[in-house]
Amino acid sequence: MDINELKKYFVYLNKEYTEGEVYKIIYHFDIDDLKKVKTTSIYMTGFGVYDAYLNGEKIGDQLFKPGFTYYKRRLLYQEYDIKSMLKEKNELVFYVAQGWYCGRFFCENTVQNFGKLPSISFILNIEYDDGTKKIHHSEKGMKALISEYKYAGEYDGEFVDYSNENINQELGELSPFDFPDNVSLEKTLVEVKLQEEIKIVNVYAHDDYTIIDFGQNFAGVISINSALLNEGEEIVIRHGEILNKDGSLYTTNLRKAKATLSYKKGKLNHIYTPRFTYMGFRYIEVRGVKYVDGLLKAHAIYTAMDRTGHFTCSNPLIDRLYKNQVWGQKSNYVEVPTDCPQRDERLGYTGDGHVFALTGSYNFDTSKFWYNFFKDLALQQLDNGDGNVSPFLPHPNPRPVGFMSMQGWGSAVSIIPIYEQYGDLDFFKNQLTQIKKYVDLEIKKAGNKYLWNAISLGDWLSLRKGIAWQAMNNHPVSNAFFINDLRILLKLLKILNKSDEYNYYKDIYNKVKSKYIKSFISKKGKVKKDYQGTYVLVLKHVLDENDKELRALVINKFVENVKKHGLDTGFFGTEHLLPLLVDVGEEKLAFDVLLSEKCPGWLYQVKAGATTTWERWDALKEDGTVNEEKSGNDNMVSFNHYSFGSVGEFYYQYILGIKPLEPGYKKIQIKPIVDKRIGNVSGSYLSKSGLISINYYHDNNQLTINIETPSPTTIILPNGDSYEVGAGKYKYQINI
Ligand code: BGC
Repeated sequence: MDINELKKYFVYLNKEYTEGEVYKIIYHFDIDDLKKVKTTSIYMTGFGVYDAYLNGEKIGDQLFKPGFTYYKRRLLYQEYDIKSMLKEKNELVFYVAQGWYCGRFFCENTVQNFGKLPSISFILNIEYDDGTKKIHHSEKGMKALISEYKYAGEYDGEFVDYSNENINQELGELSPFDFPDNVSLEKTLVEVKLQEEIKIVNVYAHDDYTIIDFGQNFAGVISINSALLNEGEEIVIRHGEILNKDGSLYTTNLRKAKATLSYKKGKLNHIYTPRFTYMGFRYIEVRGVKYVDGLLKAHAIYTAMDRTGHFTCSNPLIDRLYKNQVWGQKSNYVEVPTDCPQRDERLGYTGDGHVFALTGSYNFDTSKFWYNFFKDLALQQLDNGDGNVSPFLPHPNPRPVGFMSMQGWGSAVSIIPIYEQYGDLDFFKNQLTQIKKYVDLEIKKAGNKYLWNAISLGDWLSLRKGIAWQAMNNHPVSNAFFINDLRILLKLLKILNKSDEYNYYKDIYNKVKSKYIKSFISKKGKVKKDYQGTYVLVLKHVLDENDKELRALVINKFVENVKKHGLDTGFFGTEHLLPLLVDVGEEKLAFDVLLSEKCPGWLYQVKAGATTTWERWDALKEDGTVNEEKSGNDNMVSFNHYSFGSVGEFYYQYILGIKPLEPGYKKIQIKPIVDKRIGNVSGSYLSKSGLISINYYHDNNQLTINIETPSPTTIILPNGDSYEVGAGKYKYQINI
C-alpha cells in the first residue's frame, strides 16, 4: 500500500479548542465470512495522541501513538495485523487526545504548539482467500462521541468520570482535515511501552489520605482496579518524588504540573490505566477512598530497547549508584531523550542526551532510539536556518542561535557514539551534512577571532560557582566543544576520503586550537579561572599527544584542583572526570572521588536515599531540605535527571574495563581498573560482536579474574601484564 494514502483520510472534530479534551470515534464494520479472511492490516496515525481498540481489545501495546516527532516535517504511523481480533460484527474505537501536538506543553505551558486540533487517519485493508479486497478508512461524517475523559494532558494527568451519563453521546461530526505539505509519513521505529511492575514497598495511612511508597523513583503510570471501588466513588492520586518532613507529599518541584489522576467510578469494573500521560514519581498520595490492597498497581514506562549491559559489585553504595543511573535512563528515554520525567518540562534536551549517551548505549541497545531522534534533529536543524542544533527538540518554531548560544548542547550532533559502540558507519556518514552545518555555524560565529565567545551556560550546574558565574565564564567550556566538533568532523572527512574539505577544516581547527590555548591556558598550565570542568574538557577535547609538555602541566593543575576541591564539575565535566583521572595515572584519586560521600558527589545522593540521579548535586541539602533555587521564575530541582548518571561510563569502561578498539567491538580492550573498596565485581556487555563478560574477586591479596570475549582482545591486567587473545574464556590469578 502507498502509505501516502493515509494523508487523504485525515479527519478531525472542528470545534473550539478546549485544553485537555479527549473524544472517541467509533467505526462499525461487518465481515461476511470470517473464515475466508486471509490478511488484515490496519494503518493508523494522527496529529495528537491516539489509542485504538478493536472489539474492546487494545490494538498493539505501543503507548502515546503515533509518537512524539517534529510534526511540522515528520509524522509516524503504525501498522498492525488484526486478523485474530476480528469478529463478524466489529467495533473500532479511537480515543483522540491532544498530546504534545496541541496539548499544554513546554516550560511556558503553552497550548496548540504544533497545531490547532488533533486529527486521525486510518486505513484497514482486508484481503480474502479468493483475492478480493475490502478497504475501510476514516471518512468525513463519522461521529465524535463524548468520552469518559474530563481532561488528559502530559503535565496535569488524567481526570476521568465513568459515571457521566453522557458518555458515547454525539459531540459532532468529523470533518476532513487537510494534511499539511512537507510532512512525511514514516513507520514507527521505537515504541514506548508499559514495562515492569514496580511493587509497593510501604503504605502510610494519614487522617484523610494515604501515602504509598514504591521504593524507586521512575517514570510510569498507576493502574486502578475499579472493582474495588463503589459506584460514584472518586479516587484522586497525586504523584511526587519525595516526602516532606511530616510525611506528606512534596510537589513544589513539579512546578505547574499537577501530576494527578482522578477516577470516578461508574458501573464498569475494569482496570483503568492512563493513556495520555505518565508521571515521574516514587510516592503517591491517595485521597477520596480508603486504600485497600490490590486497588493500585504501578508500572514503569519507557522506550522498548534490548538490555545489553549489567553490573554488580559487593560495595552496596556503588552497586546502588549503578542501578540509579539505569533508572535515570529508563525514566528519560521516553520518546525523546528527556531531561526529566516529572515537572512541566520533559523536553528532548540534546546536551543531557549526549553526556549520558555512552552510558546509555552500554545499558541498552539505543541505536534505534537515536536514529529516530536524529531524524528530527536533522529536520529541525534545517528549519532553524542558521545550522543551529536546538538545545531541545522537537520544537514547533525555528530555533536559531538566540541571545544565548547554549554551546555544548548542539554538539550532540557530533558526539552520540553510534559508530563507536554499534559500528554503524552509515549512520556516521549520514551525519556529515548535519555536523558540517553545525560546525560552519560555529566557524561563522567565531569569525576572525577563531573563538565563539557568547553568553552560554558553561559546565551547567557545577556547584561551587553558581549558574550566573558559569554563564559569564563559559568560554573555555564552550570553545572546547567547538574544537571537539571540528575534531569529529575531521575524523569523518578522513573516513570519507574528502581531502579538500579535510584540509580546509584542519586549517580552521589549528587556528581555533592555538587561539584557545593562547586565550585560556597559561604557560604554567593553569586554565582560566582554575575551573575544574574546563580542565576536564581541555584534556579531553583540546590538548592531545601533540601538546605533550603543555598537557603535562595542565594535568598537574587538574589533579591539584581535584585534590583540593574533590568533585567540582557540572553536566559536561562530570562525564569525563573519573575516566580522565585514571587516564592521567590517578587511579586512586578517581576512586576517592567516586567513593566520596560528601556533597557534591554521587554517593552523597545515594546516602540521602536517591534511587535515581539528581539534577543538582545538592537537590537535597545537608539539612534534608530541598534546594529550591530559581532559574528564571521557576524552581529547578529534579530528582530524576540522568546527566550525572554518565558515571555509568566509568563502570563499564574502567571498573569492568570494556572498551572498543574498533567500532562495533570487532577488536576489544579489557582493562579492569581495580580498587579493593569496590569489592568483588561482575558485569557484562552484549556488544554487536557478542557477549563480553568479566568478573573478579579478591581473596586477601590475590585477585582472580574471569573474562569472556567474542573478538580479538587485548587484555591488560591490574599488575600490568597484557595478553593478546582471540574469542574465548580466560582466567587469571594475580597478586595485587
Ligand atoms: C533542563 C536541562 C537542561 C538545562 C539547560 C534545564 O531546565 O532540565 O537539563 O540541559 O535546562 O538549559
